[in-house]
Amino acid sequence: MFKNIRTPARKVTFQSFLSGGIANDYITQSTPYAEQVARAAQTLRAADYVLIGAGAGMSTAAGAEYGGKFFEAHFGEFQRAYGRQYMQDMYTAGFYPFPDEESRWGLWSKLALTAGADLDVTPLHKTVLRALEGKKTFILTTNTDQQFDRAGCPPEQIFATQGSYRLIQCQRGCHQKTYDAVPLFREMDQARQGVKIPGELVPKCPVCGGPMAMNLRCDNYFVQDESWYAAEERFSTFLSEAVNGKLALLELGVGFNTPTIIRLPFERLTKNHPNITLIRLNRSKAVVPDSLGDRAIGINADIAHSITDIAAALTDAEPAPGRTDG
Ligand SMILES: [Zn+2]
Repeated sequence: MFKNIRTPARKVTFQSFLSGGIANDYITQSTPYAEQVARAAQTLRAADYVLIGAGAGMSTAAGAEYGGKFFEAHFGEFQRAYGRQYMQDMYTAGFYPFPDEESRWGLWSKLALTAGADLDVTPLHKTVLRALEGKKTFILTTNTDQQFDRAGCPPEQIFATQGSYRLIQCQRGCHQKTYDAVPLFREMDQARQGVKIPGELVPKCPVCGGPMAMNLRCDNYFVQDESWYAAEERFSTFLSEAVNGKLALLELGVGFNTPTIIRLPFERLTKNHPNITLIRLNRSKAVVPDSLGDRAIGINADIAHSITDIAAALTDAEPAPGRTDG
């Protein structure tokens, strides 16, 4: 008796996904906006699988603020203590050469709370999730603010590769474990005198006794703990299945700062699989490789608008409740 013997499909690992070069045929598509929105909606409607790739532009479009008046309002005392030229926004502030651990955690506890646990910009994230209900979806993100989690996406469908504002680790990565530090950050923030926290609140590595650091990928000591590897494995399982089906890649606000994790791999996947379409939403960098033809839709627009318009087009096209086809 013969059974259907299927060759096991080759697994697409995160490592193999990551290898992709930069395209040399980028174009800005000249298709009118309304037509692109309609095509994006049509692609998502036809898709069985949607892999979302979210970058910094998604958080910004959703309303997250990092500099300007917002930073002045929340970090004024740090600006006065260290000088405005070193304290302009939450990105640069973290790199200040703090004189001691009390000062470093004084800034970082405030920053981790403001950009992480206390950030709530989920309406746009919820719009994306609602629009894709019924699809097999997975989210690959370089954002560390956990806004998709907060918007209600099951955590097992998210792979946040670059860490989290909630977590700390041994600064030298002496052991592969991370620690939820939100309660500690709150304690630090409340106990802070000026720009410094009391010495007794400075965290120490429970293994080597050395300093702790945020679990954010910024050097070779970034800790990938068990849950990181579990998420990587789920990503790989999803993608291995999805590349053989109708897959739409929905890229949200990924620029050229860290293109190697989402942007370039998405282009390469699309190039290699005729069943994949890439939808790239970016305020100003939605160029796409010309060679992808109509399997790439690059929409240069405020992505809050394009997401809302695509979601609306998807909803409009659905049959009214109770109606059946045929
Ligand atoms: Zn250690």
